[in-house]
Amino acid sequence: MDPAPGNHLHAVRTELNRLEIYRRRTYLGVLTLTIAIMMLSWAFREEGDPFIAVAYPAFSAILALLSVAFWRKSSPLRTMEITLVAAVGTMILSRLAWHFTFSDPLNEHLLLLAGGHYWAVGILIVGGFITLGYRGGMIIGIATFLFSGILATHEVFGCFQAAGEYCHNWVYLVRIHLFLAVLLALTSAGTLLRDRTWSAFSRAEALQHWAHTDPLCGLANRRGADQFLSAEAALADRYQRPLTIILIDIDEFKSINDDHGHEVGDAVICGFAEILSNTVREVDLAARWGGDEFLVATPGVDLRSARHAAQRCRRAIERAAIAGVPVTVTVGIAEYIPGKGVSDAICRADAMLYQAKAAGRNRVITEACELT
Ligand code: GH3
Ligand code: MG
Repeated sequence: MDPAPGNHLHAVRTELNRLEIYRRRTYLGVLTLTIAIMMLSWAFREEGDPFIAVAYPAFSAILALLSVAFWRKSSPLRTMEITLVAAVGTMILSRLAWHFTFSDPLNEHLLLLAGGHYWAVGILIVGGFITLGYRGGMIIGIATFLFSGILATHEVFGCFQAAGEYCHNWVYLVRIHLFLAVLLALTSAGTLLRDRTWSAFSRAEALQHWAHTDPLCGLANRRGADQFLSAEAALADRYQRPLTIILIDIDEFKSINDDHGHEVGDAVICGFAEILSNTVREVDLAARWGGDEFLVATPGVDLRSARHAAQRCRRAIERAAIAGVPVTVTVGIAEYIPGKGVSDAICRADAMLYQAKAAGRNRVITEACELT
């Protein structure tokens, strides 16, 4: 349960930051491996292959610069991801084009292509989806597939026209492209499913959050409070842990509305909610119980400590004008009795609040004793 307004958003931001760090580290790992693969190819290259001799060290240097940029977080992650896919994609596809232009892919280079370079083409398709999501992945995947398909088709037609000896090897290129099509279909379906599931979950979570949150002040509403209280009551029953219910009501709130206007009244409710949420602990509940009445539940805190905390809060409010208006509050406190149900404790806290109002307001009354 969120005791403070904005706590939920804060948790989401923290999680997103953690995920961004994870993504940056993954890309760094991928870049390091890619550089290692290229340097290995460069070190053991065939004689007379200027592409590997010149382009691979140049691309490795570009990828090394990209790694530094990822490490130093010098650009937004999205920009870096697009740059990464563009750089790696250019490298993989230009090497593919080189194979088709300067060697004979249906002859002795077939094994090199099928067993080696098409791995990189497949990785480009999968990596596009992982890095850029569904839309970006589809663009990269289809473009890669078409580019490779056009090169292969051109090669096969050229071979048949020239009545080449190895033209029957066309079937390997067709099989490779069918594998690529399967890879594209599976990866796109997986990414689409992941994205849809993720958005359904986040919609459900947002609905759950808003259903349990007061729209004016951002504290838990009555539904949120009920959920928190029944869970904490079950724990109190089981482990005999104290659970204290504190009801707080703003004094003469109707007069604040009448004298200063409804908008100032709303601002007082929001300001009070903020003070309350800054006062309670992470494990406590602070809720708007209704109108100008608020409920705080403090698991693991006995009546005496709760009374001291409530007094501190009451004094703090008495001292600070909220939205430019002097405000006081009256507080009633009762302790949950295991097995008796939360509504019993709330009724008793309400009775204490009623007594405190009758005794002159701006005070805290617990079941046991009165403090002014
Ligand atoms: P007491 O000291 O006995 O609590 O007096 P009170 O005037 O605070 O008590 P009462 O319950 O009569 O008045 C509560 C008022 O709060 C009545 C209602 O119009 C006003 N109120 C309830 N919800 C809101 C709200 O969201 N915004 C504003 N501005 N006023 C609200
Ligand atoms: Mg009131």
